[in-house]
Amino acid sequence: MIQVIDIGKGTRLNDYASFAYLSNPVQELRAQAKVWVPKLHGRTVWMVNSTALGGGVAEMLPKMVDILRELGVRTEWVVVSPDAKEFFPLTKRIHNSIHDFGHPGFSADDGCVYNRVSRQMADEMQTLIAPEDILVIHDPQPLGAGSELKQRLGMKAIWRCHIGLDRHTLVTDAAWNFLKPYTKNYDHTVFSAQEYVPSFLMEKASIITPAIDPLSDKNRDLLGPELMNILCKSGLHKNGLHPFLASRWKRQVKRLQPDGSFANANKNNEIGLLFHPVVTQVSRWDRLKGWETLLEAFVRFKRSCKHNGKKKSSHYRRANAVQLLLAGPEPAAVQDDPEGKGVLDELCTFYRKLAPEDQKSVVLLTLPMSSRTQNHLMVNAIQRCSSLVVQNSLQEGFGLTATEAMWKKIPVLGTFSCGLRQQIRDGIDGRLTANPKDPKEIAENLDYMLTSSAKLEKWGRQAQHRVYNQFLIFSQVQKWLQCLSAVSNGSG
Ligand code: UDP
Repeated sequence: MIQVIDIGKGTRLNDYASFAYLSNPVQELRAQAKVWVPKLHGRTVWMVNSTALGGGVAEMLPKMVDILRELGVRTEWVVVSPDAKEFFPLTKRIHNSIHDFGHPGFSADDGCVYNRVSRQMADEMQTLIAPEDILVIHDPQPLGAGSELKQRLGMKAIWRCHIGLDRHTLVTDAAWNFLKPYTKNYDHTVFSAQEYVPSFLMEKASIITPAIDPLSDKNRDLLGPELMNILCKSGLHKNGLHPFLASRWKRQVKRLQPDGSFANANKNNEIGLLFHPVVTQVSRWDRLKGWETLLEAFVRFKRSCKHNGKKKSSHYRRANAVQLLLAGPEPAAVQDDPEGKGVLDELCTFYRKLAPEDQKSVVLLTLPMSSRTQNHLMVNAIQRCSSLVVQNSLQEGFGLTATEAMWKKIPVLGTFSCGLRQQIRDGIDGRLTANPKDPKEIAENLDYMLTSSAKLEKWGRQAQHRVYNQFLIFSQVQKWLQCLSAVSNGSG
């Protein structure tokens, strides 16, 4: 049920610093570490979450752990995944409810399940963790276990909540009322935005925005031949005319077929990633990611261009050629997201109802998750082949998929959800849709962006700048060091 993840050793700080554009942030981090690390007095930091794969938290933790270790902080990553079948559906309801999605209210039975499983997780974690350590619990799934453990061992404990909403409603209040008792024992809490902090935690909350690793397989530069290699090895590109030395990866990308089955991505119809303009959304299969409306909007956009455009115009030709690529993980691979399969099924049903001519321009892919490296390289390659990345989230805690695209200078169409508008400034480094449930507005935004190439180029550059200044891993680790040492020394 609990697993200490072996993250190995990744890119060293010296390697980062050897890139001219990263040497300043690394230098700054090292200087800060000299101040803060000694204040931790050699304590071990335990990062605990509930999935090793899929989603933003699993994306960030390994690199954070790796850098903290290199800076001299003993750090471990533990994943808790309870066997109790009813646990993740319950925590998914809490997750949705925090985002004002679903029905308000949790029953006494829900409380019993949460308490029982939390106690079991705490029993197992207790064999690893010592009273002088620091516990950092990520998100609501292991919150109760951390609270229980804090009570038993009295170690310093921080709750890092990656989700939230900038308003409250009956539904969000229900989730927070459920979680409130478990937050009491914690010394401190960390959120991604001030707007997310519930009033009862105001006194002991800090803000740390998520961040990306610029040299990870997900984000590092890919030159032409390597990019092509990844497309061919993963099955995203059919290797036809040329001899190809590298062998294909064991697990290939699968594409939704008109009959609802999944088959090799280029089986009946070459995707042509490198030959078409591509509008992409890569995310977990989660209703809050706004998949269905995006698909509807895209079809609407194509149709309107066809009916209204002048046949010889470049706009008409672009609109005719553009494809929508929707990609997400094989749903079974994301342990703590039990709704993934259902959401993907709904989207497949929606796709199957489209006219064959509309289906042709939509590529829905599941990406294998058995190898983290391969999955990340696929996401990197897909984002880099995109003319536009969309993140049509109804609600978004932060939205690393947007950060990743911005870093690659790919123009992003986000939404005004709190996480995305912290990153993308409308009309400065991307565009934001006011109502992600409105296909008409999204279609107009797609139309606008796909015809404004000069503007997009500028937005892409500004977006990369913004990520460089605010959302790289180095500043995130710096803030964590400050937070950990403050908690370690008793001040929140
Ligand atoms: N992701 C991935 N493989 C996939 C789909 C998504 O690695 O098949 C990654 C994506 O690149 C991003 C993370 O999962 O790094 C999603 O994080 P985000 O903050 O956008 O949303 P969350 O899933 O945490 O709600």
